[in-house]
Amino acid sequence: MRRERSVLRGRAGLAAIVAGAGVQALCGCAGAPPPPAAPTVAEATPIAPPAASASIDDIEWEGATPRDRELAAEVLALTRRAVERMLPALGPLDGVRVRVVVSDAPQPWHVAYFLGPREVRVERRFMDRLNLAHEATHALLHGRLGIAPPRWFDEAVAQLAAYDVVHGKPLEPPTGRPLFELKALRALDGEAWLAAGGHAYADSANWLGFLLPSGPAPDAEKAAFARYVEVLAASRDVVLADRELATVTGR
Ligand SMILES: [Zn+2]
Repeated sequence: MRRERSVLRGRAGLAAIVAGAGVQALCGCAGAPPPPAAPTVAEATPIAPPAASASIDDIEWEGATPRDRELAAEVLALTRRAVERMLPALGPLDGVRVRVVVSDAPQPWHVAYFLGPREVRVERRFMDRLNLAHEATHALLHGRLGIAPPRWFDEAVAQLAAYDVVHGKPLEPPTGRPLFELKALRALDGEAWLAAGGHAYADSANWLGFLLPSGPAPDAEKAAFARYVEVLAASRDVVLADRELATVTGR
């Protein structure tokens, strides 16, 4: 789908945001750290029940080793936690299933989240933490909301969650108000979003970082964004939710 073509451009957008931060994708299928030694029986005695998310995901990956699957499951779990911390209004995401299909066959866009079947498809050589976490965030958002959220929000959350997964900490919020108007960014979708290119990804991530509790936005604007997420999650009505952001002006 045309929409997913820009997923790869999103990588450039994130790279622009975190330029100099040393983004390094850790591949889940090559160059991974060696697996730990097999535990002894005593060490293997369950201390806690398995996480609720342990078996919910569907990872279709021909030729994957157990370690490959373990790492993919780890990324999915970390992505859930990152999105939950960022957007607590969404509630726990352990019940939201993510389907991942990894294949050696070339995919239309190497790695992408596909709207129709709601699955992440990855050409094996592009399987890494950044890519999987980014696309898994789309799957979690779409699965939780039951709709495709507005593009700026969808891509902003995916970029910040993936950064968190790769670096083990959230991206530092912007130091000041983003220059590009949020109203104009919110209006971008479809061809207009594609035409905007990488700056739309960068601006969306900056606006999200600005409006989150850790960001530098005025309290009233942070509250407006919090209501935006709450209305989106409760109503699945993107128009209704968008009204909450009317007071967040561009400059
Ligand atoms: Zn994306």
